[in-house]
Amino acid sequence: MDVDRCPVALEEVAEAYLLGSLPEVEARAFERHYVVCPGCAAILEATRSYLEAVKALVIIGAQRAMPLAGQSS
Ligand SMILES: [Zn+2]
Repeated sequence: MDVDRCPVALEEVAEAYLLGSLPEVEARAFERHYVVCPGCAAILEATRSYLEAVKALVIIGAQRAMPLAGQSS
């Protein structure tokens, strides 16, 4: 990945980076890039917020589903 150029599939790269599924060499290249690219830094932050929101919804969903399992109606 060129440090001066934005990744082609930026959202996908940002998501893979945050999930730790980006190959080491690409993750390091992306780190070098987004510190000098406000656009990618913004996308990275937006993707981080999105992933945290999804994670929170999954946890809330699990908490809501569990009590129902033991209930009889
Ligand atoms: Zn960029």
